[in-house]
Amino acid sequence: MPRPIEARIDLAALRHNYLLARQHATRRSPAAKAWAVVKANAYGHGLLRAAAALGDVADGFALLDLDEAVALREAGIRQPILLLEGFFELADLAVCADHRLTVVVHCLEQLQLLRRALPPRCLPVYLKLNSGMNRLGLTAGQLPAVRRELATSPTPAAVTLMTHFAEADGDAGERSINWQLERFAAMTAGWADAAGWPRSLANSAAILRYPETAHDWVRPGIMLYGGSPFADQDAAGLGLQPVMTLCSRILAVQEIAVGERVGYGGTFVAQRPTRVGVVACGYADGYPRHAPGGTPIIVAGRRTQTLGRVSMDMLACDLTDLPEAGVDSPVVLWGDGLAADEVASAAGTISYELFCALARRVPVRVV
Ligand SMILES: *Cc1c(COP(=O)(O)O)cnc(C)c1O
Repeated sequence: MPRPIEARIDLAALRHNYLLARQHATRRSPAAKAWAVVKANAYGHGLLRAAAALGDVADGFALLDLDEAVALREAGIRQPILLLEGFFELADLAVCADHRLTVVVHCLEQLQLLRRALPPRCLPVYLKLNSGMNRLGLTAGQLPAVRRELATSPTPAAVTLMTHFAEADGDAGERSINWQLERFAAMTAGWADAAGWPRSLANSAAILRYPETAHDWVRPGIMLYGGSPFADQDAAGLGLQPVMTLCSRILAVQEIAVGERVGYGGTFVAQRPTRVGVVACGYADGYPRHAPGGTPIIVAGRRTQTLGRVSMDMLACDLTDLPEAGVDSPVVLWGDGLAADEVASAAGTISYELFCALARRVPVRVV
């Protein structure tokens, strides 16, 4: 028998969340379309699995890796595919053109590569403007050169203007999005061509909180997988359904006396006679090692908490008040009944990181 851990992936929930994202976008912009953001192996859920689940509903798929984009085409995906960081070298352009990929252009070097493509390649381009995130994107100072390049270059087939919000989720300083919208507007003001180009601005947080940013194409990521982009609003309250449920079982039970300790470093010290459940899940499965004792966990359908440090293949939890639980009892680490956001928050991270860290050794079962 294999080790009793598995990740259940609920593809109906993924579809539900995608359709919800698009519904939010089309409330304000009836013609808005939604890229399903499937970078990082669909946030750990499996690229081809996610693409198969969304293949007949998604307007397009957005990711980073050229090989993954080609894999989507080879799997029969016919919708537009957007490369969120564009291309990295000249040779990529032929592959992009052959597979009808849409490319982000975020720097002048990429525009110059486009010009050098032989034979001239007509690629749909997402022109990424840096409106304040200061990660990728063309700056206001570079725009005159961009405009000259676009006016004389034969290559872009269609241009969409894009930017990315740094604080649409509302924490970290509360500056929100207006300052970025103002910079974006200033960068495109008086540029006649740009006025007619479609726009793509919104990530999950903006889709949910700032419907006025939906425009032509939205880019939902985390909400597709049932994670809330907000620290102060839970996923269920947003109508999102969990897609990944990480499940395991109790391997062993220890009854320990007051003063006994649990796990490496003995960081948990029993204050009462304690029944300790040992769960087949550790950091080598993708459970965060920095999740402290007290992190919520579900055993036999009831909520309890972890005890002591997470080890590589196991973690401990408190069964003292769960007399019905014992060896073989089912455990939910996150997902159905326990939001990944809650576990992530206890561990000082975000659900994005938990999902992406799911280890290859964990078997996946599609439900
Ligand atoms: C990852 C990413 C998204 C999706 O962000 P979420 O917060 O997961 O919705 C959107 N746009 C770009 C450019 C991204 O890199």
